[in-house]
Amino acid sequence: MTTPLPLLRALRFAADQHRFQKRKDASGSPYINHPIAVATLLAETGGITEDVLLLAAVLHDTVEDTETTLDDLAAMFGEDVASLVAEVTDDKSLPKDERKELQVQHARAASPRAKQLKIADKVCNLRDVTYHPPVGWSLRRRREYFDWAERVVAGCRGVNPALDAAFDEALAAGRAALERTSWFRAGP
Ligand code: NDP
Ligand code: ZN
Repeated sequence: MTTPLPLLRALRFAADQHRFQKRKDASGSPYINHPIAVATLLAETGGITEDVLLLAAVLHDTVEDTETTLDDLAAMFGEDVASLVAEVTDDKSLPKDERKELQVQHARAASPRAKQLKIADKVCNLRDVTYHPPVGWSLRRRREYFDWAERVVAGCRGVNPALDAAFDEALAAGRAALERTSWFRAGP
C-alpha cells in the first residue's frame, strides 16, 4: 500500500453505509466491526498488502447489505475493487438456500483475490458463530453453518496457505466448542 488514504476513505464509506446495522450477536455489535475484522485478518494473517484486496474486504458487504451499487464502488474505488466485491456478493433475488448452494458451486472458479476474501469472511463468521453467536441459533444451526462454510472454503483453498490454516483452526475450535456445549447440556 502506497498511502493509507484509500483505505481510510473505504473505512469511512463502509462505516457510513452500515451505520444503522448491527451484527446478530446478543450485544448487537456495530456491523462495521465485521468488515474491519476481515480486512485485518487478510493483512495480519494473510500477509496481504495490496490496496485492491484490502479495500474490497472493507467494502465487501456494502452491495449485499446496503443501498450501495457496484457503479458507486467503481466510481469511488475503481473497477478492480468493484468487480472483486461483485464476486463475493450474493444475488439477493434468489432464495437463501439457492444462494448458499451457489456459493459452494462458484467458489472453485473465483479469482485468487476473491478466494482469499471468501476465506477471510468465513473465518470471521466462524469465530463469531463460536464466540458471539447469532441470537436464537440452536447448536444444530451452528453445526450446519460450519458444514456449509467448510464446503465453500474447499473450493477456495491453495492460494494463501496461512489463510487456509486460519480457517482450519477456526473450524476446529468452533466444532470443539459445540461438542463441549452439547456434552454440557446433555450431562455426563
Ligand atoms: P444467515 O445467512 O441468515 O446468517 C449468517 C450470516 O449472518 C453470516 O454469514 C454473516 O454474514 C451474518 N452474521 C451477522 N452476525 C453474525 C454473527 N454474530 N455470527 C455469524 N454470522 C453473522 O444464516 P444461515 O447461514 O443459517 O442461512 C440461513 C439458512 O438457514 C437458510 O438457508 C435456512 O434454510 C436455514 N435455517 C436453518 C435453521 C436451523 O435451525 N437449522 C433455522 C432457520 C433457517 P455476513 O458476512 O454477510 O455478515
Ligand atoms: Zn461478510
